[in-house]
Amino acid sequence: MSNKPSILMIYTGGTIGMVQNPTTGALEPFKFEQLMENLPELKRFGFDIATVQFSPPIDSSDMDPSHWELLVKIISEGYDKYDGFVILHGTDTMSYTASALSFMLEGLSKPVILTGSQLPIGMIRTDGKENLITAVEIAAAKNSKGEPLVPEVCIFFENHLIRGNRTTKVNAENFNAFRSYNYPPLATAGVSIRYNEQHIHHNGGSRLTPHFCMDSNVTALQIFPGITEQVVATVLSTSNLKGLVLKTFGSGNAPRKEWLRQLLKQATGRGIVVVNISQCLAGSVNMQRYETGQQLIAAGVLSGYDCTAEAALTKLMFLFGKGLSAEEVKAQMVKSLCGEITVA
Ligand code: ASP
Repeated sequence: MSNKPSILMIYTGGTIGMVQNPTTGALEPFKFEQLMENLPELKRFGFDIATVQFSPPIDSSDMDPSHWELLVKIISEGYDKYDGFVILHGTDTMSYTASALSFMLEGLSKPVILTGSQLPIGMIRTDGKENLITAVEIAAAKNSKGEPLVPEVCIFFENHLIRGNRTTKVNAENFNAFRSYNYPPLATAGVSIRYNEQHIHHNGGSRLTPHFCMDSNVTALQIFPGITEQVVATVLSTSNLKGLVLKTFGSGNAPRKEWLRQLLKQATGRGIVVVNISQCLAGSVNMQRYETGQQLIAAGVLSGYDCTAEAALTKLMFLFGKGLSAEEVKAQMVKSLCGEITVA
């Protein structure tokens, strides 16, 4: 058996593998073999790199839970064979996919690194080559005992390796498109790759338990000054609704309107799990701080702490997908399952 690191590269689509249609001028996905042609540098690692691609490759705006389930299937089937996995993915929904996979790949002890680019890999100024080459290097990296350095679902983008379920896409143009405001980077790539070992989560050689079922009966509602009773009532009366991410102001505050308190109270009373996530990108929800937050506690709303909206939504989908009751989901939402929240 070869000692060379073995990596499975999964190409889902996105700008990284796009070409310009000469007739319409639109960016469209192209075949994965062409992507490899554009990256002869990869061969110089001397790794065994196997590839698999979505057929057809998709713009990540078309990603849905069935694609996450397919990724979990590909990874779990190749789990014993490969040292690490690199997923090439469009940037638009990469944070959702990374968050979902972090929950669905329970007990993960190998690297799953998502990356993509803002400019297609065939363009001279592409950021794709750098991102992909470094993602492969990180997916293969091991310590002196032969254990993977980063056994987590992560995003590598423009110098930073960040925990997948802590990320948000913050820029539609800049190469530095992703941020993790509430958790430090797991590694920084410069002349060398510096790993922040104290921040990396290790499962201690646990077995992988893949999950394939997500429940989409969840939604998000952004509070804004002037939001009407009718809008909130309509959202909360959605049939089969099981979970709601309530995007509030500041440290978890909402207008002190009696109708809002009543609607939320009735919804939580019906078993809808309502999680409070701040519209602020950095910092944590603390509903005790102001009266405008305390009324939400009284209505049965849970704190989402410093969770991203992407992680909160996919966590609800995951927990309800496991068939848990509302009470069981509530208990799990206020705990960290794989480093997605910091519970004070
Ligand atoms: N629309 C593209 C996608 O998310 C953008 C990108 O790849 O960056 O698939």
